[in-house]
Amino acid sequence: MSDRIHEFLRNRREDGPCMVLDLDIVRDNYSRFAKALPDTRVYYAVKANPDAKVLGLLAELGSCFDTASVVEIEQVLAAGATAERISFGNTIKKERDIARAFTLGVRLFAVDCEAEVEKVARAAPGAKVFCRILCDGEGAEWPLSRKFGCVPEMASRLLEHAHRLGLVAHGLSFHVGSQQRNPHMWDGALQACGAIFKELAERGINLQMVNLGGGFPTRYLKDVPAVKAYGQAIFRALRKHFGNRIPETIIEPGRGMVGSAGMIEAEVVLISKKSDADKVKWVYLDIGKFNGLAETMDEMIRYPIRTAFDHDAKEPCVLAGPSCDSVDVLYEKDPYWLPVSLEIGAKVLIEGCGAYTTTYSCVGFNGFPPLKSYVI
Ligand SMILES: *Cc1c(COP(=O)(O)O)cnc(C)c1O
Repeated sequence: MSDRIHEFLRNRREDGPCMVLDLDIVRDNYSRFAKALPDTRVYYAVKANPDAKVLGLLAELGSCFDTASVVEIEQVLAAGATAERISFGNTIKKERDIARAFTLGVRLFAVDCEAEVEKVARAAPGAKVFCRILCDGEGAEWPLSRKFGCVPEMASRLLEHAHRLGLVAHGLSFHVGSQQRNPHMWDGALQACGAIFKELAERGINLQMVNLGGGFPTRYLKDVPAVKAYGQAIFRALRKHFGNRIPETIIEPGRGMVGSAGMIEAEVVLISKKSDADKVKWVYLDIGKFNGLAETMDEMIRYPIRTAFDHDAKEPCVLAGPSCDSVDVLYEKDPYWLPVSLEIGAKVLIEGCGAYTTTYSCVGFNGFPPLKSYVI
């Protein structure tokens, strides 16, 4: 992976597990998105990694930002981006947070139901809204289920309602599910968007924008298609469903922007068996579900793990975290193959950890401190 990360780890003072993120990789990822989708604006999904240096670099590169709370909005402003570059993309907002965002200059808000449209109309008069439509998340390793969005029929009604309340009915959004390994999953949602654009145009409301969401994958254990393949598939779907009237588009990559830029160094605390006859070893690390690896929930994200013993034969192991909670097991249903010679005290390197690790890490369960983060 990154020589800079290896160099940093060689020189650091030993102080428990940490995540090291290489900004050069974020820069490369940003330019890959910009190249693959040249007519699309990038709104980095701040929640993936809100580190000030990450936000600062992206602000400097010209990125816009998708935020979910007033704190995230403030973090983006502090990083040097202006409020016109911020979308308040969470569909679940307190009215006073909408008002606060509006005061800070934010003019773009997500909605997915009538009550939210009315909140925005009261707290952010005249702002632009886009309506999120449901997407089933098929093909995604981290699907986003039915929590966000509404059915297409409801979306057109909501945008019409927003228009009547003096808001700008700006467009539509969807999210095909995080770690989406199929570039063709945008097609179905874009078909629905095309139909809503047409229906509203007939009623005198001209939507301008389609927010294509995130979902762009990071390489974990399995290969994933290149960003270019996503760009091509999305462009083809836009042509198919919008013809010559391709709307303004935005993407909101989180994982795809920072995932590959970060690596965790952790340590083997214990290796044991539950009985003499046990075929599967238990390997306990000093990192688990509560201090950085929350996305191993239901064994959904399978991280590549490197050790200094990788030349050796491997055997199936249950991999677990250090805390005294029985849910703190990373891989058990589908055991993880680790070298037979792996030792207690050995370091392990976990790749693809730049997204959804540091902020998912809790404040100190069992006295284990939150995951340390170094951005270099
Ligand atoms: C989390 C989120 C994203 C980022 O998703 P990734 O799969 O990490 O790219 C984008 N948009 C919204 C609205 C989100 O909530």
